[in-house]
Formats: sequence, structure tokens, C-alpha cells
Amino acid sequence: MKLKFLPSALIAAAAFVTLAGYTTPAQAQEKVLNLYSARHYSTDEALYNNFTKATGIKINRVDADDAGILARLKAEGAASPADVILLVDAARLWRGEVDGLFAPVKSKALEDLIPAQYRAKPTPEGTAWFGYSTRARVVVYDKAKVKADDVDTYAKLADPRNKGKVCTRSGSHPYNLSLFGSVVEQTNPQAAEAWLKGLVDNMARAPKGGDTDQIRAVGAGECQIAISNTYYIARLIKSEAPADKALMDKLGIMFPNQTTGGTHVNIAGGAMAKNAKNPDNAVKFLEYLASPEAQNYFANGNNEWPTAKGVNVSNPALTAMLGGKASFKAETISASVVGMNQVKVQQMLDRVGFK
Ligand code: FE
Repeated sequence: MKLKFLPSALIAAAAFVTLAGYTTPAQAQEKVLNLYSARHYSTDEALYNNFTKATGIKINRVDADDAGILARLKAEGAASPADVILLVDAARLWRGEVDGLFAPVKSKALEDLIPAQYRAKPTPEGTAWFGYSTRARVVVYDKAKVKADDVDTYAKLADPRNKGKVCTRSGSHPYNLSLFGSVVEQTNPQAAEAWLKGLVDNMARAPKGGDTDQIRAVGAGECQIAISNTYYIARLIKSEAPADKALMDKLGIMFPNQTTGGTHVNIAGGAMAKNAKNPDNAVKFLEYLASPEAQNYFANGNNEWPTAKGVNVSNPALTAMLGGKASFKAETISASVVGMNQVKVQQMLDRVGFK
């Protein structure tokens, strides 16, 4: 069953009207899992169906974006029917954790399968969230106008040689907050702020739109360098549209910091809801997401890399993006630390005028 996301004014009421009927604790714990998901990919359907087939647990799904889900959980409070939450960014997972929206999970299977870098810092109560796929934040550039050497580190994006060339989405978007939070760790707060100032000085235009809009702006000649998550690039690589093929022919793709700390990677992940009415089913689902079958759907469905140890997914668009290589050097900074830095980063953005 799929439930439409409702305007915030209706959120609290909707919790009772739409979900209370089948989530009373008495009948819970048996066959139901209420999932709030910020992921909306066709392969996720197959993933949910297979979980139901394997366990007999039916999934009721609420689709919304990350901010909408976090707001909804807060509004619903203890009455929330949510059992599992899926979000698509470390900064948001960290936010959900510190706002007390998640119930820590103790699972040997998940601790064994998901590398420590891609899950919340464990506490005696358990682990607040687990990352199930990674996406890298990379650089796309106009091959005719920009040398690969001029964009092979994040640091160089702020170098005067790239003045007037850079396009990016808003600095406050979680994808950028996480990237900048990683730069703080790879350098130091003072250097990171100077770097952000340099990035503002190098902008071709004020930040607007999403990652794909930045890539298209490079194609249109509005700018020459863009920052994007890898799955947006993979979608364009897979596109059959002649305009997209022409666009991708023009563009170079750079995984920055390959000879230093590695390229920044972000995660999509899941958590058990603080007030889960079906906690056993929630843990079963979170563990299922780390299985090879689910990892294949979860990661490949959005052209991402799986996080679970021992799972490899072959995706031609990702291989093409890496110039035929199977992998790249990813940063080793914990997603938790990156998420935590967002508050510091937002203050820096305000100081340097990064909209
Ligand atoms: Fe996205």
C-alpha cells in the first residue's frame, strides 16, 4: 500500500486517520512494517515485494522527501506509526539521530556487514542508523575549456585559476553541507572557510537548481565546472536522449582527491523509528537491506555503490564514469562526523555569503 504525503497541517491527524487502523501494538509485531521512505525508485518496489515474500511481513509505505519525513516524525511524536525510516544523506541521518527520532538497534549482523564508517557511532543502547549505499560527490567539467589537472582536487575549485567557472546548487543543501563537512575534516575549520570563500568568488552565477541543472548549465556554456552526485551523472550516461548524449560527450568527470584523502562519499541509509510499533519487523527489514539481494536493488536501482562487505554490483554507467576502472579512492571520514559538521558549516556559509 502506498500513502500520499500530506501537507504539514494535516500531518498529525493523518497519522491516526490513515495508519492507526493497522498499527495498533496488539496486532503489530506479526505481519506489518510501516516504512517512511525518501527513496522513490522502481527497483525499491521489487525489494519490498521480495522482503514480503521472504518474511510474510507486509510493507505500508509513506513517500516523502527527507525534510518532510523528519517534520512528520516530529509532529506525530509518540503516536507515529513509523517503524523504519529511509533517508538519503548523512547530514539528515545525523539530524534525525540528534533530534531523538530514531531507536538505536543492536544487531550483530548489521555491525558485521556495514563498515563502521557508514553507520552511526554506536552507543551502549545500539546504533542509530545504517548506511546501505554510497554516492560520490564529484566534479563535472567542460573538456574543451577546463584541464583535468585544474579540477583534480576540491581545493582547486576555489583556486583563482577557476574564477567565474563554477556552478553549484545551494550551499545549504544537505549534499553540500556534507561535502563541506568533509572538507572541514580533511583540512581544518579555518582552511575550510577560506576555501568556501574562494568557491563563492569562483561562481559563474548564484546557486540555484539541483545537481542535474548544474551539469546542464556546463553543457549550455553558462559555467564550466559543476559539482554533482554520481547518480545524477549515471542517469545522463544511461539516457538515450540525443541531447543528453551530446551533453555527456562534452563533459569530463573527475573524482577529486584521488592522490590525497579520497573523494567525498555520502550515504543513503535507514533507521528504526523511535516509537516503532513493530520493532522486531523493523530490525528484520534493516538486516534484510544489508543482504546481497537487497543491496543489489538498493544500490543499483539508483546507480550507487553498495556498502555491505562482500557485495559487489556491476553497473556499466558507474564503470564508464570511472573511465573503465572498477573503483575509486573514497574518503575514510565517518559519515557520522560529516553529518555532525553541518552546523559549523552552515555558520561558515553565512559568513562567506554562500547562499
Ligand atoms: Fe539526490
